[in-house]
Amino acid sequence: MKIVILGGVAAGAKAAAKARRILPDAEINLYTDDTHISYSSCGLPYYIEGNFEDYRLLLVKSPEDFEKQNVHIHLQNRAVKILPLSKQVLIESLVTHEAFLVDYDRLIIAIGASPVIPPIKNVNLNNVFTLRKIEDGIAIRKKAESSKNAVIIGGGYIGIEMLEALVKQNLNVTLIEYAPTIMQNFDDDMSKLIQEQLNYIQEDRFTILTSEMATEFSGDNDGIKAVRTGTGKEIPTDFVVLCAGVRPNTAIAVDAGIEIGITGAIKVNERMETNIKDIYACGDCVEEKLIISNSKIWLPLGTNANKEGRAAAINACGGDEKFPGVLGSAVTRCLGFTMSMTGLSVKAANALGIETVFAKVTKDDKVGYMPDVNNITLKLVADKNSGKLLGCQAVGAGDADKRVNTVTSALLAGLTVNEFFHNDLTYAPPFSPTIDPLLNAAQILSEKFNSAV
Ligand SMILES: Cc1cc2nc3c(=O)[nH]c(=O)nc-3n(C[C@H](O)[C@H](O)[C@H](O)COP(=O)(O)OP(=O)(O)OC[C@H]3O[C@@H](n4cnc5c(N)ncnc54)[C@H](O)[C@@H]3O)c2cc1C
Repeated sequence: MKIVILGGVAAGAKAAAKARRILPDAEINLYTDDTHISYSSCGLPYYIEGNFEDYRLLLVKSPEDFEKQNVHIHLQNRAVKILPLSKQVLIESLVTHEAFLVDYDRLIIAIGASPVIPPIKNVNLNNVFTLRKIEDGIAIRKKAESSKNAVIIGGGYIGIEMLEALVKQNLNVTLIEYAPTIMQNFDDDMSKLIQEQLNYIQEDRFTILTSEMATEFSGDNDGIKAVRTGTGKEIPTDFVVLCAGVRPNTAIAVDAGIEIGITGAIKVNERMETNIKDIYACGDCVEEKLIISNSKIWLPLGTNANKEGRAAAINACGGDEKFPGVLGSAVTRCLGFTMSMTGLSVKAANALGIETVFAKVTKDDKVGYMPDVNNITLKLVADKNSGKLLGCQAVGAGDADKRVNTVTSALLAGLTVNEFFHNDLTYAPPFSPTIDPLLNAAQILSEKFNSAV
């Protein structure tokens, strides 16, 4: 059995390791255009921040580790064409520029996503970075350590993580977001709260500009010197990090006749099969099913990529494994402030035509006399007609994510708010108040739902 894997970060590396465990005698070759494999992109902001000195701590498994398991890793080798009829892939070496064909019995596509480069004049100036790969992290950290000012374009998860990283590197940071609020995945009231609270934490070290578009970079041969915005602001800077989102890498799949879904990412079934026999796809290049609404979504997250890589490998090796989909759970932190969510926000539910009821509470995360007590604001959302829980957003300096992680199980089980309200959560003063904020929210939501029906 010849298994060929394209891409080797989260999904591809996971698929390679799993395939080797299932089929000890299979010939497994992994081709990637990258210089590294099996690394934690998620850790890059924390490396840039200075939490640890050696970027190699981000590397999970080396090509040598794989080679010891008889998995052959081919770095800097790009797949340029898939030939499904002859079951071959055309690979081009980025070092020698030679092209050659490799045969497969099963092909696993795990070529991920790439940063969006927004249409800003002079966007190619030196010291304008994107953050995706190990080299990006090394370059940004090096520049940050010798700079005073930085601009971040985009206020989503990665932009917000870069804000923390660069503030901790003692830079004056300006974050520019064209939407009216940062962290657009959250409902607007929660996004506004996030922004207010971040400003409250450390206003003097950074500026967040919303409803503002970076339109032009200016500089010279040394690189960028300033960012101009649509409203005429001129922001001097030593470098820029573009965090304007990512898009799935699909070109070679499209070229091979592989079907693309409504989200623009590769369409796969629950077994991670594409529409072409013996070709599987996983990770940031594929779309997922959103379990709650049974609709399609593209959620390029490391946690999904790992699970999908595992499922793709099991099925490519002859097994029968299903990846049922995602809830849309995510978490991040900025300067001690946690932002976490799962399921549908009110905004997302309404966009799907679902009417909602919600409850929002701001409470202590522990008993008030504990020295490390902090606030969290929690928004619990349910379907107005059925009472079924739809999602939860929680933000604050306290333990927000553990409340969200409790709701994920309720969403998977399809619980209504009236059922969830009886949840027997743990209690002791260092961990929560006697009645957890989540149960407070559930109680209010339950009353709202019951009085509405
Ligand atoms: C800064 C940052 C922070 C993040 N933080 C989090 C987090 O906290 N939590 C979370 O869940 N997720 C996080 N993510 C997202 C997570 O890193 C990705 O979801 C994950 O890396 C996806 O893995 P993947 O293997 O599908 O794709 P990728 O990581 O994109 O890897 C694909 C690989 O394929 C290679 N490739 C592309 N085209 C070809 C080709 N034609 N031929 C050969 N090779 C090719 C690419 O060079 C790349 O090496 C973060 C991402 C970034 C950038």
